[in-house]
Amino acid sequence: MDVQQAARISALPVLGLVLPCYNEQEVLPETTARLCALLDRMKLAGDIAADSAIFYVDDGSRDGTWRLIDEYAQRDCAVCGIKLSRNRGHQNALLCGLMTAPGDILISLDADLQDDLEVIPTMLAAYRQGSEIVFAVRSRRDKDSFFKRFAAESYYKFFAFMGAQIIYNHADFRLMSRRAVESLREYDESHLFLRALVLQLGFKTATVEFERAARFAGESKYPLSKMLGLAWQGITSFSAYPLRLITGVGIAVSLLSIALAAWALAVRIFTDDALPGWASMVIPMYFLGGVQLLSLGIFGEYLAKVYESSKKRPRFHVEVVCGRRFDARGEPLAGP
Ligand code: UDP
Ligand code: MG
Repeated sequence: MDVQQAARISALPVLGLVLPCYNEQEVLPETTARLCALLDRMKLAGDIAADSAIFYVDDGSRDGTWRLIDEYAQRDCAVCGIKLSRNRGHQNALLCGLMTAPGDILISLDADLQDDLEVIPTMLAAYRQGSEIVFAVRSRRDKDSFFKRFAAESYYKFFAFMGAQIIYNHADFRLMSRRAVESLREYDESHLFLRALVLQLGFKTATVEFERAARFAGESKYPLSKMLGLAWQGITSFSAYPLRLITGVGIAVSLLSIALAAWALAVRIFTDDALPGWASMVIPMYFLGGVQLLSLGIFGEYLAKVYESSKKRPRFHVEVVCGRRFDARGEPLAGP
C-alpha cells in the first residue's frame, strides 16, 4: 500500500451505493428501508462518512419507480436518484450510476435484494486493507431455478473456454474505489460487459462470498432473450475465439474435401463405378452451405460491433436527478 493510498483509506470514506432499477416499484420500499438502516448503522459505527448515500438509477421504468425514488429523496437525505431518458439496459444504467455518483467508494448492487447487504461491511474491510476492487461472489446457487443455474454455470465455463477472463459466479455486486472508477471512465466501449471490463483495470482486488437470496418481490427483468444477449455480448466483446474457430472449421473442412476428392479420383480411375451417388454430392453441399452461413453470421456479428462502435453514440441520457448529493444544476456536489 503506498503512502497516498494509506492516507486516503485512513480518512472516513464517503460510500455511494449504486442500484439500477427497472420497474422495481414492488421492491423499492423494502430495499430503501434496509439500505438506509445499513447506512445509518455504518455511519454510527464510524465506518463511513455522513454524506454516504444511495444512488438509484431509474432505467426508463414505466411503473411508479421514479415517483417513489423522488419521494424518498425528498424525505431522506441519504437517497438520490438519476433518471435515464429511456430504458437503456442494466449495464448502461449501472455505468451511468458509476460515472455520476460521487463518493470515495462505489458499491453496485441489484435493487431486488438478491445481493446480501450484510457483506457490504466485509467489502469495506477489504478496501481498508488496500483492495481497489472487491468482487462479491455467490457461494451457492440453490435459490435459482434449475434452468438459470445450469445456464449460468455453463456460461462461465464457456467464457473461460473462449479464453476470456471472468470471475466465476460474480455478476455486478462489486466495490470500486474512486481510482478504479476513474480508470473505468477511460474505457470507451459501446458494448458493455462490466464484470469482464473491470478485470482489465488491474489494481489490487479481493473477493468476498455471499449467499444469493431469492428476489424479494416482483419479477426478473432479465428474461431469457436478455440473458442470451448479455452472454453473447460478453463473448464477442472479450474474445476473438469464435472467429478463430471458423478458421479451424474451415481448415478441417478443406482437408476433408481433399480426402473426398482423392477418394472420388481413385473411384474414377481404378473402378468401374464411376457414377458417384447422389448422397455423396448433396451431403457435402449441405454441410458446406451450413458452415459458410454460420461463419458469415459470426463475421457479421463482429462487423456489426465495429459499425456500432464507429458511430460513437452516447450510451445514455440523464433526464433529471434528485437528492441532496446533487446541486441545483444537477451536478454531483463537490468532493470525491
Ligand atoms: N435492470 C435495469 N434495466 C433493465 C433490466 C434490469 O436496470 O433493462 C435492473 C433491475 O431493476 C435489477 C437489476 O438490473 O436491479 C438486475 O435485474 P434482475 O434482478 O431482474 O435480473 P436477475 O437477477 O433476474 O438476473
Ligand atoms: Mg435479480
